[in-house]
Amino acid sequence: MTNVNCLQGIACPKCGNDAIINVEVRILAAVTDDGAETFGDMEWDGSSYTECPECKHRGTLAEFRVEAAEGQAREHQQEASHE
Ligand SMILES: [Zn+2]
Repeated sequence: MTNVNCLQGIACPKCGNDAIINVEVRILAAVTDDGAETFGDMEWDGSSYTECPECKHRGTLAEFRVEAAEGQAREHQQEASHE
């Protein structure tokens, strides 16, 4: 299956699964004493915690990227190592 929307270019680097990927997202929640209700858009990026539900491989979303963006992620890592 070729993903063309949310999972475009994303697949498990270990088992190749690209049907469903678990990604840690950021989302706002209205919290009251009774509980919490989420609202608004979910956000994630290359550094979001990601895991494969098929083989349990874990990493960041950037590590699950199978095309493009890889060079970009490396550049960011090099920048970080200079600090
Ligand atoms: Zn996998």
